[in-house]
Amino acid sequence: MTTESAAAAARATVYGYPRQGPDRELKKAVEGYWKGRVTADALRQTAARLRRDNRQQLADAGIQEVPTGDFSLYDHVLDTTVMVGAIPERHREAVAADALDGYFAMARGTQDVAPLEMTKWFDTNYHYLVPELGPGTVFTADSSQQVAQLKEALAQGLTARPVLVGPVTYLLLAKPAPGVPADFEPLTLLDRLLPVYAEVLADLRAAGAEWVQLDEPALVQDRTPAELDAAERAYRDLGALTDRPKLLVASYFDRLGEALPVLAKAPVEGLALDFTEAAAANLDALAAVGGLPGKRLVAGVVNGRNIWINDLQKSLSTLGTLLGLADRVDVAASCSLLHVPLDAAAEKEIDPQIVRWLAFARQKTAEIVTLAKALAQGTDLIAAELSANKAALASRAGSPLTRDPAVRARAEAVTDADSRRSQPYAERSAAQRAQLGLPLLPTTTIGSFPQTGELRTARADLRAGRIDPAGYEERIRTEIREVISFQEKTGIDVLVHGEPERNDMVQYFAEQLTGYLATQHGWVQSYGTRYVRPPVLAGDISRPEPMTVRWTSYAQSLSDRPVKGMLTGPVTMLAWSFVRDDLPLGETARQVALALRDEVDDLEASGTSVIQVDEPALRETLPLRAADRADYLAWATEAFRLTTSGVRPETQIHTHMCYAEFGDIVQAIDDLDADVISLEAARSHMQVARELAAHGYPREAGPGVYDIHSPRVPSAEEAAELLRTGLKAIPAERLWVNPDCGLKTRGWPETRASLENLVAAARTVRAEL
Ligand code: GLN
Ligand code: ZN
Repeated sequence: MTTESAAAAARATVYGYPRQGPDRELKKAVEGYWKGRVTADALRQTAARLRRDNRQQLADAGIQEVPTGDFSLYDHVLDTTVMVGAIPERHREAVAADALDGYFAMARGTQDVAPLEMTKWFDTNYHYLVPELGPGTVFTADSSQQVAQLKEALAQGLTARPVLVGPVTYLLLAKPAPGVPADFEPLTLLDRLLPVYAEVLADLRAAGAEWVQLDEPALVQDRTPAELDAAERAYRDLGALTDRPKLLVASYFDRLGEALPVLAKAPVEGLALDFTEAAAANLDALAAVGGLPGKRLVAGVVNGRNIWINDLQKSLSTLGTLLGLADRVDVAASCSLLHVPLDAAAEKEIDPQIVRWLAFARQKTAEIVTLAKALAQGTDLIAAELSANKAALASRAGSPLTRDPAVRARAEAVTDADSRRSQPYAERSAAQRAQLGLPLLPTTTIGSFPQTGELRTARADLRAGRIDPAGYEERIRTEIREVISFQEKTGIDVLVHGEPERNDMVQYFAEQLTGYLATQHGWVQSYGTRYVRPPVLAGDISRPEPMTVRWTSYAQSLSDRPVKGMLTGPVTMLAWSFVRDDLPLGETARQVALALRDEVDDLEASGTSVIQVDEPALRETLPLRAADRADYLAWATEAFRLTTSGVRPETQIHTHMCYAEFGDIVQAIDDLDADVISLEAARSHMQVARELAAHGYPREAGPGVYDIHSPRVPSAEEAAELLRTGLKAIPAERLWVNPDCGLKTRGWPETRASLENLVAAARTVRAEL
């Protein structure tokens, strides 16, 4: 290989593009179909038009090889399940009766049949539907969707590359089907799955694909030797096929590590690697294996999951190094652009000086094209782009938004003592007991009460100017009065104000903190037709004024029982936002923590004796590789403690997390040094209580006894039974009684009935003590 020929061949490509359309047309069409307002044909037409427009836009922007098959009506992992024929038993009838309705039944369930489980796609905020496999799974190839989408692109006269979830990742993302022993390993099905991939590849080649991309992001996680062997076998077998397109194996979200030599040696024609900061180790590792002689390297130098402009000069230098390491070097984003919003230019309410720091999917596409052009034809051609890029980067670095000296100085002055409560838990706990005077098995809720249509209308009315701030304030106060009076009547011990003023637990605070930006159109798919607009951590974070005190103290003024203050913790504030790439995450977390600490202190000063700081995202941002976790957990737990440690010993700090499996972070939960933690536990029959006990967790805990993800009302006896189970792991002096999570998605009737039963259960079990 020569550097010149590798450069001359450089092309621009992407692995995937936002699916929703500029106006979220896809969401509207799919939801319209569910409601019977849009026909299947109309839905298919909308989808086809969106795909066509996306491809045309990419091609017009200069992308030389467009992806196909990245589009999905709901989720691309579910599409893969359809492609390999792994339809769960319980959905077969529906799928056979009508493929489209059957597809949505798998995604969302029906009256009678449960959907596939949904979980996070690696460490992103996208959720996929988990394949369910077992020893009896029979795979059959159905390449129709993939082939049809490829043909659409070819008919447009474009060069297209189908993108599939790779076989190893597909199996590693799967779980044992219901009824299959929990220790069944889906990866044991590899030999059965490969022939199906072989068939799909042959079909795609027959339809005109020169290249097919197989995504194997699961290989950036820690893998056992057996799993690496499976990857080796998979690509040896697929590589050995005669009737197949060229294969590009793609990895993203982190470094490949031990999987890199495996893939580098595999008989495939190309590899796509992440070269953003998070995966920087790929560069040295690639050199260490002697590069990819004879292969195509697709270099993910543009960050596909954050929204900042690329440093073009820096990317060019990375690309320059890579040129010596492969036969051909192409330029791409590090991963599918599915994880970023569509177009920064649509953000008319953000200062244009700041908009030029932002790159959403459209802007990233342009960056990729610019870089590929420079690589192929020299940097002279992109002189204008380079100087604009330099100016934008300089404006960001020099902006008072990104560097607030007061915030920096305060963060720098933080000492270890600042993140420690003034007394150890045992002493605090006695002081809290005396101060609060709660019964054994105290009852509480997680914070939010049903977000009624009226509340959403009130917010819309305020935005549209139909009511003034005072009118809005009064509507919120009315809601708080109702929530407080309901809780008092029901006999709940520690009350909440119900969070009626919050649109979203992160956005609400982001809107009030300096340094955060909100977008108007920055929608990103979370799952299916659910899109979120993550706020942007753009600058140094400070809190101009109290954010929650007036609501909490109003609620407290209505009752003699303690009302819990309710805040979102620093780690979750980062996890559900776009984060800075010009400051270490730990430093941003510390800034957010200091702002929240002021809020905690103000709540205490205004008479709040119980304050909950929610960290539902603590576990989801856990780095993909175990070696990186200690660092993360160190800054994450420090940020939580910094938020909560400014209060007096008798002020009780609660935290809340909503997942049932957290064996791997029990120590971190302990390190938060919160006085009380509430967790999701109803579905797993108090599993978390046993895990906490096994760890010797010394503090108070409320494993949930009411599954709020379902409209079902748990009976008092059922909740009591869960409490008795909980008591086997956690002594009565330390056990709380609460639902799994907040109630904002529930309706009032089931909330009322469920909480009444919860209080009744607590009373019954107290009487048995
Ligand atoms: N306090 C929040 C609520 O009750 C917690 C939400 C969450 O854990 N996701 O809504
Ligand atoms: Zn929760």
